[in-house]
Amino acid sequence: MKYINCLLIMAATTVAACSSKPEEPATVKESLPEWQEGYMDIHHISTGRGDAILVIMPDGTSWLQDAGDCGTSWYSTGQGCALLPNSTRSAGEWIAEYVRHFTAGTPSAGELDYAWLTHFHGDHIGDPETALKGDRGYRLTGITMVGDMVKIHRLVDRAYPGYDIPTETLCRREFPLYNEYRLFTDWQMKNNGMEMEGFEVGSDDQFRMVHNPSAYGNFSVRNLCGNGYVWTGEGTSSEKMYSADPSTLDENMYSCGVVIQYGKFRYWNCGDIPGTNWKDYSSQERTFETPVSKVCGPVTVMKLDHHGTFDSTSEECLKNLQPKEMIAISSHVLQPYTESVRRMMDTSIYPGERGLYVTTDCSRDKLGDLFSAFKPAGHIVVRVYGNGDSYQMYVLDAKTGTYDVIYKSGIKTL
Ligand SMILES: [Zn+2]
Repeated sequence: MKYINCLLIMAATTVAACSSKPEEPATVKESLPEWQEGYMDIHHISTGRGDAILVIMPDGTSWLQDAGDCGTSWYSTGQGCALLPNSTRSAGEWIAEYVRHFTAGTPSAGELDYAWLTHFHGDHIGDPETALKGDRGYRLTGITMVGDMVKIHRLVDRAYPGYDIPTETLCRREFPLYNEYRLFTDWQMKNNGMEMEGFEVGSDDQFRMVHNPSAYGNFSVRNLCGNGYVWTGEGTSSEKMYSADPSTLDENMYSCGVVIQYGKFRYWNCGDIPGTNWKDYSSQERTFETPVSKVCGPVTVMKLDHHGTFDSTSEECLKNLQPKEMIAISSHVLQPYTESVRRMMDTSIYPGERGLYVTTDCSRDKLGDLFSAFKPAGHIVVRVYGNGDSYQMYVLDAKTGTYDVIYKSGIKTL
């Protein structure tokens, strides 16, 4: 049959059409085409040790969202993922190298205009137990490692400057890196010109372009939630999402979240905010995904809340967001969780096709057949083209350190 087709092609068109050997696998490795002015790239960096998302805005402004290193306790008990691409360096070093590689050729080459921490858990900020010795008076892990290797111009967290939200004791209760982090931020502000800000719920100008903002009037970042408050949808005002004593809240409930808008394209990252109650926690007001997703409205791409664990990615949240693509950042064999994946795939919750992505394959055994719903695991890159009218999904090899393209979607028009 192939031979007949070849003859027909020969007769109708050209010899070249049948001289190729399409059945042979490609031997030339493909790289992500270089960033260009007008593109927005969102890289979900796969280390197997927590969240780290590099955003390159359309004018080249660089922004790191979290820099996690959850340490080795999960991995050593068979519950965690392997460190990627290998354990010759720490997660923070791999993140810094990734940032240097993919900001080269942009106006912010090798530097971060912003770093932002959604909340203070180790898989988003770093782990004191496995932190490495530094020579600036603070130990190196997660964000302190990245900031030691890459200049950060402005760092935003949920509780600067007092670290007393809701109180000093409660703020530090789930912030194991507190002492090293404060030594790091003090040194960087004093010696390296780093500025710091507290996250402002409701603001739409805390994360703004620094190179050429006037060229992109259709780009904005809205701060949706943080510290138990949600944007009201009016101006920059916000309101509280709970009624009980804040001492009952856990750190995930204090997660900050944003929606990035570029033309028609919209991207959701709300850290680890919960969507359902969980009997192990003292607060039973944990349905924060519902009001936050309601005020946000539909998005193109959703970074799954709390890594797709079962208390997140609720039905209400999916109904409100209707994401076309969903990305799980996985450091644990239960990320994402089976029931969350079933909800993500359920077209009775919202109709239409959706793409599922995961940064590691360590949940393969727990998910069983459901794992085949995901594209190949690796660094997941969302590339948004000029004016935010279209986008494309890429997955890059995270196991070898080469960043070769191992999957790419077609270009999708919005
Ligand atoms: Zn987390």
